[in-house]
Amino acid sequence: MKAVRIHGYHQQPVVDDIPEPKISGPLDVIVKIGGAGVCRTDLHIIEGQWEQAMNPALPYVLGHENAGWIAEVGSAVTNVAVGDTVILHPTPTCGLCRACRAGDDMHCENSSFPGLSHDGGMAEYLLTSARCCVKLDPSTQPKDVAALADAGITAYHAVRKALPLLYPGTSAVVIGAGGLGHIGIQCVAALTAASLIVVDRNPDALKLAEQLGATHTVVADGNHVAAVQDLTKGGADVVFDFVAEQGAENDGWAMTRRAGSYYVIGYGGELHIPTLDVIGTERNVIGNIVGTYNDLAELMVLAQAGKVTLHTRTYPLDQAPEALADLDAGRVRGRAILVP
Ligand SMILES: [Zn+2]
Ligand SMILES: [Zn+2]
Repeated sequence: MKAVRIHGYHQQPVVDDIPEPKISGPLDVIVKIGGAGVCRTDLHIIEGQWEQAMNPALPYVLGHENAGWIAEVGSAVTNVAVGDTVILHPTPTCGLCRACRAGDDMHCENSSFPGLSHDGGMAEYLLTSARCCVKLDPSTQPKDVAALADAGITAYHAVRKALPLLYPGTSAVVIGAGGLGHIGIQCVAALTAASLIVVDRNPDALKLAEQLGATHTVVADGNHVAAVQDLTKGGADVVFDFVAEQGAENDGWAMTRRAGSYYVIGYGGELHIPTLDVIGTERNVIGNIVGTYNDLAELMVLAQAGKVTLHTRTYPLDQAPEALADLDAGRVRGRAILVP
């Protein structure tokens, strides 16, 4: 089968011809990929940023945002059958550890991460686990929802965690209206009555943000922190930072009001905060990593109700290098999706 593999860091991935994956465990499933999202994390993988954390054997297949149809199931699989349309939680988990039993999939002690730790879904077929499969209405096109498997779940997870803080009369800020941010905006709009301010450098992204439910938009032009403080009378109750690099992280903290919470979702930057400032204002910094199986299942309810839609641009699998280059150069509005 065709697969997009990374052979070395700081090198373009290559479309290779490799053997199809095989079922080995009783809970294994093989999914015929219908869409694989192209993510900023793929660029970070190529740059070597994940090498230490994941230590994958090279070459391996990229792709951690996957949806498709069940092609084959192991002997103990009962929740899905061949032909079912599915979106995949990104991490196959054990189901037996403390975190799994609490539904906290991302902190499973025995999980793996296809696309980061070993072969992922930028290929014709992917080997994963029955525990990852969220069954979808058969009319769903995998390419339309694939990016919800990681970009979507990550945005939803952060917004879901913040819901108790976003009662009517509060304000939320979304920094970055790109791939994750445009989903975050829709989640805030669908789940809360908070006033929503969206900050981005790109005026086109802000136009899209308005259509998706932003109450106000602010261009990140150097005066954006003051503009947000003005609009919120001293800062937002919750700031969702989908950028969190190149200075956005310190801006995000400054936009957070006293006793408010700063949710870090993007990554790459460094936050410098005097501890006196932390205690004096009782502001919180909240980390967010992907999301739970139930987050993904809930997000798919929103998606199937039309309350969260993905703006996508599809590329044939062969054009993965072009899709990655377009993402790197900021030429993709919404999300790039590879279709085998
Ligand atoms: Zn991703
Ligand atoms: Zn576990």
